Amino acid sequence: MDTMMTPYIPVSRAYRSRLSEVDWDNLQPGAVATDHMLICDYAGGRWKDAEIVPFGPFSLSPTSLVFHYGQTIFEGMKAFRTEDDRVHIFRPGKHYQRLVKTAQRLCMPVVAPEIFREGLRRLVELEKDWVPAQPGGALYLRPFQIATDTRLSVRVSDSYRFAIVCAPWGAYFPGPVKVKVEREFTRAAKGGTGFAKCGGNYGGALYPTEQAMAEGYDQVLWTDGIHHKYVEESGMMNVFFVFGDKLVTPPLTDTILDGVTRDCLLTLAADAGISVEVRPVSVEELQHGLETGVVKEAFGAGTAAVVSPIGTIGIDGKDYYLPVEDGEGHGLSQLLKNALDDIRYGRRPDVHGWNYFVDTAI
Ligand SMILES: *Cc1c(COP(=O)(O)O)cnc(C)c1O
Repeated sequence: MDTMMTPYIPVSRAYRSRLSEVDWDNLQPGAVATDHMLICDYAGGRWKDAEIVPFGPFSLSPTSLVFHYGQTIFEGMKAFRTEDDRVHIFRPGKHYQRLVKTAQRLCMPVVAPEIFREGLRRLVELEKDWVPAQPGGALYLRPFQIATDTRLSVRVSDSYRFAIVCAPWGAYFPGPVKVKVEREFTRAAKGGTGFAKCGGNYGGALYPTEQAMAEGYDQVLWTDGIHHKYVEESGMMNVFFVFGDKLVTPPLTDTILDGVTRDCLLTLAADAGISVEVRPVSVEELQHGLETGVVKEAFGAGTAAVVSPIGTIGIDGKDYYLPVEDGEGHGLSQLLKNALDDIRYGRRPDVHGWNYFVDTAI
């Protein structure tokens, strides 16, 4: 039984919808925001009431702390339209738990769970015509929070803005990704903020990623910050390998983001009776596995691209190639992606209770 009170969230509607301006056949993932956004401000030790307002710019003082010291955090999730035309938000509770962990690490307060959940539900319900109907499409949801104290000295902010914006995301079938095993730069250090979805982690990753791109790769495959010996994750994706018939992924530590997609794929793999090993993978083991053909598949997993097959892995200047499926194959990455999509698009029973339908009152 749900004992939480459902908060009332007032809506002030946009004067005019921009929905008709959207080119649904050429959606640039996340490029166009929907008509409305949710905002909720924190000051004086408490959250004010959340409200949904027309999408538009914020006006902030140049001395707002967010512009200077990096107190900025976010989540990334999706709403889907099922084949019987109902709209749901995928695993909002799991995303909220991660937001709480991220916020704690950055000394930020968090909106109450019922504000997060009902705010998302009400917003997506209002924007439901923006949820793509085409196969593979979704409405991307971006909750985020910034420090708004106006002061130039470094200190924990006393005031914040929490907001949620949405953007349609087209069917996105990434080609095989070419990754470079990073042996010099570090994304996350032990004791640092790698497990948190905070802005600073991404700013610091840009330069190494640009370097890798200049060398012809798409992404960096990060290794541990101490010896650059163990594989961690890639861009905004967790990483999986298929060694023989085993699905292998590195364990969560404070340097790896606890991906919701990763968790789903591990659950679905267990459901399908696939043998799974969550354990460290050294670059040496990976390289040996690629040389001997023991490594059959490699892929990234994250909300944005769902499952991204990795076709090339560069290790210390040498490229290794993996056969990549065309979407019709029978590899584990395709099997797991299909299993996840089947739940999200309502083609198989949602036995884990992951779909939170927006027409279900709480
Ligand atoms: C968001 C993110 C992921 C993927 O997490 P999901 O919850 O599956 O979207 C993986 N790694 C990093 C660094 C991320 O920021």
